[in-house]
Amino acid sequence: MSEQVVQEGYFGEFGGSFVPPDLQVVLDYLNEQFKKYKDDPEFIEEYQYYLREYVGRENPLTYAERLTDKWGGAKVYLKREDLNHTGAHKINNVVGQILLAKRMGAKRIIAETGAGQHGVATVTACAMFEMDCVIYMGAEDTRRQALNVFRMELLGATVIPVAKGQGRLKDAVDEALNDLVANYQNTFYLLGSAVGPHPFPSMVKHFQSIISEESKRQILAKEGRLPDAVIACVGGGSNAIGAFAHYLNEPAVRLIGVEPDQAPSLTEGVPSMLHGFKCLVLLDEEGNPKPTYSIAAGLDYPGIGPEHSQLKVTGRAEYATVSNEEVLASFQEVSRTEGIIPALESAHALAYAKKLASGMTKDQIIIVNLSGRGDKDVEQVYNMLNK
Ligand SMILES: *Cc1c(COP(=O)(O)O)cnc(C)c1O
Repeated sequence: MSEQVVQEGYFGEFGGSFVPPDLQVVLDYLNEQFKKYKDDPEFIEEYQYYLREYVGRENPLTYAERLTDKWGGAKVYLKREDLNHTGAHKINNVVGQILLAKRMGAKRIIAETGAGQHGVATVTACAMFEMDCVIYMGAEDTRRQALNVFRMELLGATVIPVAKGQGRLKDAVDEALNDLVANYQNTFYLLGSAVGPHPFPSMVKHFQSIISEESKRQILAKEGRLPDAVIACVGGGSNAIGAFAHYLNEPAVRLIGVEPDQAPSLTEGVPSMLHGFKCLVLLDEEGNPKPTYSIAAGLDYPGIGPEHSQLKVTGRAEYATVSNEEVLASFQEVSRTEGIIPALESAHALAYAKKLASGMTKDQIIIVNLSGRGDKDVEQVYNMLNK
């Protein structure tokens, strides 16, 4: 037995829950219900049913033969989250949380969204599960992402633009939390990444762990051994923690998270408080969260999930950055070489994978988590390349 007292909801000094008392009551109840259902055989069976029949799992672990040849080093495998319904990993978590919401008797789902990706995944599943859906989105973001607002409305959401503050993601999160406190009796707040106060980081990790549960089984079947490294991009950290989860206790497997060099929360962040939990945060000179900018909307967040913060501090996982130029080059190279257009977020992981693989030997293996497909980014890349 470890002598260390591990407090629930903490990853070392990170995580926890620092919220007003009325919200804490709601989160305590959520935690209790999550723990009650997560290991319940009926719940698991239903979750697996929808992953199979609606999301389209399991998705393949594709051997990228042409990239492997071109990069000239380690064998490269791609975990194909891009092939999920709605085109990314986010739906894994959405389906899990909606099933929990149903068990808890909720009739109404609320969520925050920045660029719209989590909002779209949420309202998609709400349509199928016949739940009312309200999406909070910064007013500034609704203007920049008008087509995604329409997409969400088409799927049945009420999109509420939040004009308070800077009209960005943070303000949308605050409004969603206010709504939750006012309406907790019939409302479930479906959070989109491995961030926020306890139990959200643990819950999101639980539902995203399906990624590494599958990839581990798949690589053992294909290669008869574990990979030398697993690489994933990091925004809030949900696809990365899901891709790492089943390898955390395999010390021979390197775990590498990749961030934009313009939003390097893990590489340059310091322990601080953000949205009710403790994590590594990028701060400006005055000690406020620094406004970040990434060409990949999904990676544009000044903080990072508490478990990644701890994995960084203990050294179990490594974190690296790549530049916009490397990401754009990778977006084009992978499209051209494998016939797979990666999301700009995923292109961060691929850009780093290229540098890593080329320095490794041909008998080594890496898995890159392809968190999403890039169709959503084609117009943006067109504009960037033709500027
Ligand atoms: C949202 C998103 C991300 C970033 O979110 P994480 O919680 O860090 O996984 C990465 N890739 C894609 C395709 C996304 O949609």
